[in-house]
Amino acid sequence: MRILILGGTTEARQLAVRLLPFGAVTLSLAGRTQAPAAQGVPVRVGGFGGAEGLARHLRDERIDLLVDATHPFAARISANAAEAAAGAGVAAIALSRPAWQQVERDRWTVVDDLAGAVAALGSAPRRVLLAIGRQEVAAFAAAPHHAYLIRSIDPVDPPLAVPRAEYLLARGPFTVAAEIDLMRRHRIDAVVAKNAGGEATYAKIAAARELGIEVVMVQRPPMPPGIVEVATVDEAVAHVAASAKRGE
Ligand code: NAP
Repeated sequence: MRILILGGTTEARQLAVRLLPFGAVTLSLAGRTQAPAAQGVPVRVGGFGGAEGLARHLRDERIDLLVDATHPFAARISANAAEAAAGAGVAAIALSRPAWQQVERDRWTVVDDLAGAVAALGSAPRRVLLAIGRQEVAAFAAAPHHAYLIRSIDPVDPPLAVPRAEYLLARGPFTVAAEIDLMRRHRIDAVVAKNAGGEATYAKIAAARELGIEVVMVQRPPMPPGIVEVATVDEAVAHVAASAKRGE
C-alpha cells in the first residue's frame, strides 16, 4: 500500500511510524516550522497547489490511501484533501482528535474565530497569554490596549503591532506546574487558545482552571463532509489494517 499522510501534528508523526508495516509511507509537511521534529519516515515539504495539485500528486505517486492528520485548525488543507481524494478516486481518512470539553471550574468564553477572541477580551486592559501559534497573531493588533505574552515555536515576524508584547519561543508539551508558574510570573488574567484537543498543549487549560483565569477558547472549524473520521492513532491503524486485510 502506498500511503500519504498530511501531517504537521504529533499524531501524524506517531501514525506514520505505526503504518510502516502496511507499505510505503510518506509524510507531508507544509513547511511552516523552521526545524520540524524528526518524523521517522520519508518526508516531503511544501504545498501541492490546491486540491487539483494534490489530486495530481495522488495520481502521479500512485497513492492508495490519503490520511489527513493535519491540525484541526488547518481547514484549507483538509478541504483540499477531501476534494482531491474524491477527484482522484483515492481512499481517504481524517485523523481528528476530539475537542477539549469544558469541565467544572473552567472559565471559558467560547468564540468562533480570532476576531471573536479579540472582541471577547473587551475594552479594559488585560494581561493576555496568546498561545495560538504565530500565524494568526496579527488579529490582536486590533486590541492594542492589552499587554500580550505571545508563545510560539518560531518567531512572530513581523512582530505584533502593539505597544506591550513579550515573546516566548517554546515547543510543547508543557506541564501544568510550568504553565501555572508562567501565568503567575507574567500576572496573566486571560488565555487565548484554539480548541486543538489532545494532551500536548492541554496544560495551559488546566493551569488556567487552577488559577481561576478566563480562557477565550476558539472553536475549531468543521471538518469537510464525506470523509471517514477517526479520533485516535489506534483507530487509524485499525482502519488501515482492516483495509489491508480486505485488499483495498
Ligand atoms: P491551511 O491553512 O489549512 O493550509 C494552507 C495551505 O498550506 C494548503 O492549502 C496547502 O497548500 C499547504 N499545506 C497545509 N498543510 C500541508 C501539509 N501537511 N502538507 C503540504 N501542504 C500543506 O494550513 P495551516 O493552518 O496554515 O497549517 C499548516 C500546517 O501546520 C499543517 O500541516 C498543520 O497540520 C500544521 N499546524 C497548523 C496549526 C494551526 O493552528 N493552523 C497548528 C499546528 C500545526 P497547497 O494548497 O499549495 O497544497
